[in-house]
Amino acid sequence: MTLSCGLLGLPNVGKSTLFNALTQMAIDASNYPFCTIEPNSGLVAVPDPRMAALSKLVNPKKEIEAFVEFVDIAGLVEGAAEGQGLGNQFLDHVRSVDALCHIVRCFDDPDIVHVCGSVSPTRDIQLIEQELILADLQIVERALEKRRKLAKARDPEVLKEVVLLEELLEHLEDSQPARTSPAASVLDTLLTNKPMLYVANIRDEDFDDDNPWVQEVAEYAEQQGAQWLMVNALLDQEISDLDEESQKEFLEDLGMEEPSLHRLIRQAYDLLNLQTFFTAGEKEVHAWTIEKGTLAPQAAAKIHSDFEKGFIRAEVVAYEDYITHGGENGAKNSGKWRLEGKTYAVQDGDVIVFRVSS
Ligand code: GDP
Repeated sequence: MTLSCGLLGLPNVGKSTLFNALTQMAIDASNYPFCTIEPNSGLVAVPDPRMAALSKLVNPKKEIEAFVEFVDIAGLVEGAAEGQGLGNQFLDHVRSVDALCHIVRCFDDPDIVHVCGSVSPTRDIQLIEQELILADLQIVERALEKRRKLAKARDPEVLKEVVLLEELLEHLEDSQPARTSPAASVLDTLLTNKPMLYVANIRDEDFDDDNPWVQEVAEYAEQQGAQWLMVNALLDQEISDLDEESQKEFLEDLGMEEPSLHRLIRQAYDLLNLQTFFTAGEKEVHAWTIEKGTLAPQAAAKIHSDFEKGFIRAEVVAYEDYITHGGENGAKNSGKWRLEGKTYAVQDGDVIVFRVSS
């Protein structure tokens, strides 16, 4: 199953611009036979300079990158929680993704209407968050009603849940998202408990300035214990339209190492609690995606489902060691090659050969 990240925000904040730029980085779907792509979603390659470094050493026939799914969630209007406009559809989309990137307008442009008439990041964020909070309130109220009926049986577990739900209800009624409440874990279906990344979209000229709107987004995110990031959607879209060579020149001229989009993709990957391990051979260098903390047998199952049952051991070299010692043999000669068993938690960047029984 692919974990996905939804892009949401008010109209005219740059969502589609960003989504279009992202889908230019779509993976070659023929390498991923089990993925289905919906019209509003894109499977996007995770930019990872380690791939090029590994390929330089191994010289493989093929490179297969890690990817992450982005979903463009359009259609939010005020009153979504009451089913206004495309409200229900909007909330269903939010429900179906695993994490959220909230695009916040931090640029002024008289030609591009702002739905509320002016740029104001905190107000904009809260407008959307309020719809999500209202939807969560309905879920918590329903859950509380059910548990209260059951609580008559005096089951201590149920009574404990009632206390937590009441605490959560109060928190949401206070217009606070579930993610900032210690009681949020009582339910796993809450929209405002999904990991959140605030994305401040600026205009080209503002890159070097202290944009006060960006500061506002940063402060808001920090208060919420959420991540934030600055992007320039329009510039990213222009860059993604260029061929590779022109992209390089363009970025050099701007003094940028990479488009801001690359950071967004990596941060979304991290937000989804994902990390990468590699297999590196002459046939292919392959970046595999696992959730952080995944143990070796389950990581092996990403390659083939039979590998989990037949798991014998993992032969592991950390990425840095692999590169420093010129590949597998060099790492072996330097004592950097490890044998790991069933309880090994795979680390980001591990280069692995799995030994399995057939
Ligand atoms: P959406 O409704 O959130 O999907 O917004 P769009 O991506 O369609 O963008 C609305 C308009 O804003 C388009 O004309 C974009 O070209 C423009 N736009 C998007 N990002 C930027 C930006 O960073 N700076 C400026 N000046 N315009 C932008």
